[in-house]
Amino acid sequence: MNGINDKINELKAISQNPGQSVAQAIKDTGKKAVGCFPIYTPDEVVYALGLLPVGMWGGPSKGNKSSKYLQTFCCSIMKANTEQALGGDYDMLSAVIVTSFCDTLKCIIEDWKIAVPHLNIVPIVYPQNRKSNSGKTYFKAELKRVADELAEITDTSYTDESLAAAVDLYDEYRRTLQDFVKSVAEKPGLITPLERHHVVKAGYFIDKKDYVPKVKALTEDIRAAEVPSDRQGLNPIVISGIIGEPDGLLEVFDECGFTVVGDDLAQESRQFRTIAPNVGDGFDRMVERIAMQDGCAFLYDEEKRRGRMIVDLAKETGAVGVIFNQLKFCDPEEFDWPLVKKEFNAAELPYLYIETEQQMDSLEQVRTSIQTFGELL
Ligand code: SF4
Repeated sequence: MNGINDKINELKAISQNPGQSVAQAIKDTGKKAVGCFPIYTPDEVVYALGLLPVGMWGGPSKGNKSSKYLQTFCCSIMKANTEQALGGDYDMLSAVIVTSFCDTLKCIIEDWKIAVPHLNIVPIVYPQNRKSNSGKTYFKAELKRVADELAEITDTSYTDESLAAAVDLYDEYRRTLQDFVKSVAEKPGLITPLERHHVVKAGYFIDKKDYVPKVKALTEDIRAAEVPSDRQGLNPIVISGIIGEPDGLLEVFDECGFTVVGDDLAQESRQFRTIAPNVGDGFDRMVERIAMQDGCAFLYDEEKRRGRMIVDLAKETGAVGVIFNQLKFCDPEEFDWPLVKKEFNAAELPYLYIETEQQMDSLEQVRTSIQTFGELL
């Protein structure tokens, strides 16, 4: 277990100290960094330009300056991002790509032009009909526009070859994480839900070229290890939602006898469960990947597959139930819940719905719900 612990601790340190990790990655790689908002930013384009894409997923923040720009009913990730931007945490970034999947994100694109005018904001708008030919044509043009805008801001350039190489690297990253989460499900209880989360999250803050070998080595160690007797017999579950945060939440999972064997989190598996098909140039592959990505609140899906996909994931991983972690004030996820719940009921899959924020003073109410869910299973 020592090898596993060392590898996890290294990745955990990266994940828990994003500012430091990004500063170190800038130093190590000599690249300029570009911030990438949730969710599905075209990181491959950033990478192809010789830049370092880094995730912007909120985190601990102090103060209340963001209330000047955002209403109280905005999600805690966007409040934290704005607070951190106002505090200067993102001044090391050469540009920031902001998506527009919800009303809050749309407001952020305009708010930040006033709140932090020194940051270069590059918005991106995804097509509603991402599977139709017209949607794909539009999206390819939008990706090229983002690439050109970033190139101008950062004084960089890309070629067909550099884009193809970036898409290949991101596919390798996605396959590596698919394999990692599979290995965790094969050895339920070996690593904690919080450790699993930090291993995945670390990938947002360093160069993927450096991250991939670390996760591959850890996955090999997990496959070779035995689950200690005192970690056997935990309740295997799937978690769904935007994020598995705050850290205390996943600690409660562990304390209540749960182990995460699969996830449908926007910050985790939704980022890597679809691989780009080998068609056309780098942009085409990115367009097709998004067209194939289903079961996500942010990408229009007329067949509403998400609930069925989670049920299938639970069956594949041997999960005994699902915890749906609703991030407070995230409308797209709230709209999905009634449909997802219907599928859980039809499949007679036990589930627990909890509502959390990224920063919470107390988790006691949530703890009671999780504890009770465990006792009922
Ligand atoms: S409300 Fe939901 S979709 Fe919008 S920024 Fe927050 S987490 Fe993302």
